[in-house]
Amino acid sequence: MNAFVAYSIPIKGLKVGFHKFNFNIDSAFFALFEGSPIEIGDLNFSVELDRRSDMLLFDFEMTGYTRTECDRCTAMINLPLEDTRQLIVKFGDSEGETEDEVVFIHPESSEFNVAKYLYEFAVLALPITNVYECQEEANPPCNFEVLRHLSQDESDSNSSSVWDALKNLKDK
Ligand SMILES: [Zn+2]
Repeated sequence: MNAFVAYSIPIKGLKVGFHKFNFNIDSAFFALFEGSPIEIGDLNFSVELDRRSDMLLFDFEMTGYTRTECDRCTAMINLPLEDTRQLIVKFGDSEGETEDEVVFIHPESSEFNVAKYLYEFAVLALPITNVYECQEEANPPCNFEVLRHLSQDESDSNSSSVWDALKNLKDK
């Protein structure tokens, strides 16, 4: 866990009340997770911690992007990722108890590491498809040649895919 030491929040001696933290995760961070669906990215987390006597209430606000292939036209795009998440950390030993968004830690724990949660929140924010820039940007980096072939194919048949479109390009 040494690579994640920067993501540890010291909780022993942390006063009851609100505390703010800031974390950044990037491509090197995602490389530490085997099979990560995100490989290239840069995300910032603004974290507010409400430290109570019996629990920790976290508010995560994530902004940033992942660099990925547009599902529609195969161009590389910066896909914006934004999300807010809450996490409740309770002191106690309740192994086997599964409450959504609630984590239990030992009452004597001196720190709480958020690396795993930052990773999960980023992955959960991924859209099902990556076509954001195709529609939203004034100057999208999309591969318009592929898109043009796609729209031609769509009028021809229902079974068209980007791979058919690429094949058509090659055949020319
Ligand atoms: Zn595209």
